[in-house]
Amino acid sequence: MSNVDFEEINKFAALASRWWDKNSEFKPLHDINPLRLNYIKERCDNTLAGKKILDVGCGGGILSEAMAIEGAIVSGIDMAEAGLEVAKLHLLESGLEVDYQKISVEELAKTHAGQFDVVTCLEMLEHVPDPSSIIKACETLVKPGGQVFLSTINRNTKSYLFAIIGAEYVLKLLPKGTHDWDKFIQPSEMDEDARKAGLTLKNMIGMTYNPFTKIYKLEDDVSVNYLCHYSK
Ligand code: SAH
Repeated sequence: MSNVDFEEINKFAALASRWWDKNSEFKPLHDINPLRLNYIKERCDNTLAGKKILDVGCGGGILSEAMAIEGAIVSGIDMAEAGLEVAKLHLLESGLEVDYQKISVEELAKTHAGQFDVVTCLEMLEHVPDPSSIIKACETLVKPGGQVFLSTINRNTKSYLFAIIGAEYVLKLLPKGTHDWDKFIQPSEMDEDARKAGLTLKNMIGMTYNPFTKIYKLEDDVSVNYLCHYSK
């Protein structure tokens, strides 16, 4: 059984040409990228240089490229072909090296167990049928002692108001229908899946957006967007 929701994949594929347009539907991902990159780097002994990193659900490569700039050896996987094509084309512009492939994380886990120092899977878990299977595959792919970074959106009344009504309907930061509230994941659910997979929580932090200042911040408020650091 495939753990891919092709309706979700098609949504991303339809927007693919705009992955690197910082004023497009992907503006929020560009805006949060320095914050999350910094978080990942700080939690990996302050350097990504030389680390073998797998970026799961890499899309057009916003995070993958940022990690490659830091000197990491990055592989990016996604199930949306169009996004991967854009990611590959962008390498010609940036001159960076990232190994992009269309393969599911579960499939890759069958052949590459324990091969990565770091696995990242950001803003993807809320788009898949079974997040626990993705988390387990991430655990399989990282080597013992390695780091796994996961991010998603919490499921509560506030996240319905902020992440769906606010972001899609009022502020129009994201296209309507980008997110499905039912698929949001509470931190306790994330942690249960991660623990069952054999991962240990190192840190969990919220990512907040102030619509008046238009500033994103990492802070101790996991009520809407949040980012987790696990180790194996
Ligand atoms: N991680 C990137 C992109 C997030 S958008 C970032 O944070 O910048 C979500 C991405 O997940 C899209 O590129 C979409 O194609 C991909 N995706 C959704 N379901 C997937 C699945 N089951 N396997 C792999 N990629 C998936």
